Amino acid sequence: MGKVFPHDKASNSGGIGSFLQSIFRRRRAKPLLCSECFENQGIKLDARMLGVNDRSVCRNCNSTSGKKLGREELEALTHRFFVWGTLHRCEYGAAPIIQFNQQRNTEIEASPWFESDLRLIERVLGVGFFYYGPRLWMVGEVEPLKDLSSPVTQTSILKRITTEYPAAPLKADELFYRLRIAPKAPAEQSEYDSPPLGCGGIGRLDAPGLQVMYASQDLEVCIHECRVTAEDELFVATLTPSTDLRLLDLTSLLFEKDVTEFESLDMAVHMLFLAGKHSYDLTRKIALAARTAGFDGIVYPSYFSLLRTGGMPFETVFGISHRQIPELADRERSKTIPNIAIFGRPIADGRVRVVGINRLILNRVEYQFHFGPVGYQVDPE
Ligand SMILES: [Zn+2]
Repeated sequence: MGKVFPHDKASNSGGIGSFLQSIFRRRRAKPLLCSECFENQGIKLDARMLGVNDRSVCRNCNSTSGKKLGREELEALTHRFFVWGTLHRCEYGAAPIIQFNQQRNTEIEASPWFESDLRLIERVLGVGFFYYGPRLWMVGEVEPLKDLSSPVTQTSILKRITTEYPAAPLKADELFYRLRIAPKAPAEQSEYDSPPLGCGGIGRLDAPGLQVMYASQDLEVCIHECRVTAEDELFVATLTPSTDLRLLDLTSLLFEKDVTEFESLDMAVHMLFLAGKHSYDLTRKIALAARTAGFDGIVYPSYFSLLRTGGMPFETVFGISHRQIPELADRERSKTIPNIAIFGRPIADGRVRVVGINRLILNRVEYQFHFGPVGYQVDPE
């Protein structure tokens, strides 16, 4: 199983003492390599992002301009390229194909695109690269998720979801946004309500007979969720509840006592909302159950949470999910961007008030990225 890397730990835990320690360590750490040591352009660019400015001569390639990498930075680079860079998404969940540690020899067959870089890292860090046999929960073998898919057990899991997750109020003075692409009458309030009956039923939570108004307090997420392009005419309504609304908060982390990832309701719901369209049948059932249980709507993790926060999905330490570790809860929570779904037509029925309407112009779109290997062979025994 994977070894614990420094960046696997919560950067915001440990207080000032560990912060100073990390600075001290960084000062003391001798550069091992630099960004210009690598041949693969992806690794080189990743190394330029992770390395530190230091005009000393690289002891490997003699460059003075390369960004220098101490052990900590080199481990982070190796993790980002080889582990995160081989993350394989499954129907539910995801797991890296490659892992590395100091205990194993290299068992993967590198391709010419990165072979020399792999050998260099292997030698300098003293690590081996191997096929990572994931723990099965990472690829969706989670009991409550399977039970939710089965007609026999579905009702009991839906009941658990509506009772074990907390209710979150959306208070009367809180603002949130709803984005529309090219509405017929952009200045009309009703354009920002849920679609009329018979027009919805194709989204993550709306179903025939269940109207849903999708919104978010995060405007960037609204833009992602609407899959806008530069040509689109965009309009945004600023909204607020007229009275406090009671929402089922599925963005909460459930700390379930004595429960492994395999039995975890938290993991099931987490995976469900990070999955694509094939999960909609189940997420709609959750919405119906929440409405039946008397909630005004749901707060749920945006599918685009990780793209917005730059987080890696399904991170583990020794095969244990970070979600199961209370010390990492804040960091895990910060990887989730909440979306709001309100049942019915809340503008028409007066539960939600339009504070204002604006045209929205996209003037710049930025992408952040990192790289991964291609053409390698793994040999799972
Ligand atoms: Zn170098």
